Amino acid sequence: MANVLWLQGGACSGNTMSFLNAEEPTVVELITDFGVNILWHPSIGLEIGQQVEHLMNDIKKGKVQLDILVFEGSIIQGPNGSGTMNYFCDRPMMDWVKELSAVAAFVVAIGDCATWGGIPAVPPNPSESTGFQFHKDKKGGFLGANYKSKGGLPVINIPGCPAHPDWISQILVAIATGRIGDVLLDEFHRPKTFFTDFVQTGCPNAISFAQKVDGHFGKRGGCLFYEVGCRGPMTRASCNRILWNRTSSKTRANHPCLGCTEPGFPHHDLMPGSVFKTMKYLGFLPKDVPTGTNKMAYYMRAGFEKAMGAVENMTGANKEHFETSK
Ligand code: SF4
Ligand code: SF4
Repeated sequence: MANVLWLQGGACSGNTMSFLNAEEPTVVELITDFGVNILWHPSIGLEIGQQVEHLMNDIKKGKVQLDILVFEGSIIQGPNGSGTMNYFCDRPMMDWVKELSAVAAFVVAIGDCATWGGIPAVPPNPSESTGFQFHKDKKGGFLGANYKSKGGLPVINIPGCPAHPDWISQILVAIATGRIGDVLLDEFHRPKTFFTDFVQTGCPNAISFAQKVDGHFGKRGGCLFYEVGCRGPMTRASCNRILWNRTSSKTRANHPCLGCTEPGFPHHDLMPGSVFKTMKYLGFLPKDVPTGTNKMAYYMRAGFEKAMGAVENMTGANKEHFETSK
């Protein structure tokens, strides 16, 4: 049995909506088959008012064991570092977060706002929002760079706007079944199993990317990188491997990837107005090469894919792809 407490900060509840749509496993299966006991959740918890406050205090004092603290939304520190813009159970939420993070066996930050600060942290950031252990791509955030939960791990980050529901439910299973030690984290504390490959892996437009064939919003065929700024080649996420609703993904529906699992999202502060715009001169924009990726290796891979695409085109090896994707 793993006791889970789910709290929200500067959030739109998008990750809750996503989580409730989990399929492998579903939220019901988490409870019935995997021993997840949801102590409280803002949308599905039955307790209200002082009942929640009592629960929070019992957890803080160690009377109720907290195995997993799940948090969606930014940590709001405004105004002037007081945190009073986000009151919860009679106190600033950030005070609860500090104390509960000290007693939780594991802490899981869900969505961009909890992981990196997300949209609330876009300058001028009036709510003084930040992420649990990162502020954008800088390690630190609210809990500090050296924070580790009682279980010995830093905050486990599951980014996305929102996060894919099965990324959330599968990590909760890994913790509840004692297998989280097998889950490796990357430099941004993201589980490598979901965030190693780029969104482009599995995208049916990959051949068009290699051959530089332009695509357009909502129309099949062609790659969305060149004219509408798809960030699939520079965004680590399994959206084309673990499909949304087990059916599709943005790029399969011919909508550009917005890079929502990367710490720079929504990229406005990096380059104002960059959504749906292609940054074509990759070499002069170092952030365009995926973080943690060797620039030379990235360009070599892109060149190789382009060459392979040309060979396939000559030999007709990609004929089947074009026929099935029409
Ligand atoms: S649509 Fe996006 S993810 Fe798909 S091949 Fe083009 S750039 Fe890559
Ligand atoms: S395709 Fe890109 S923007 Fe869409 S959910 Fe996946 S990572 Fe986020």
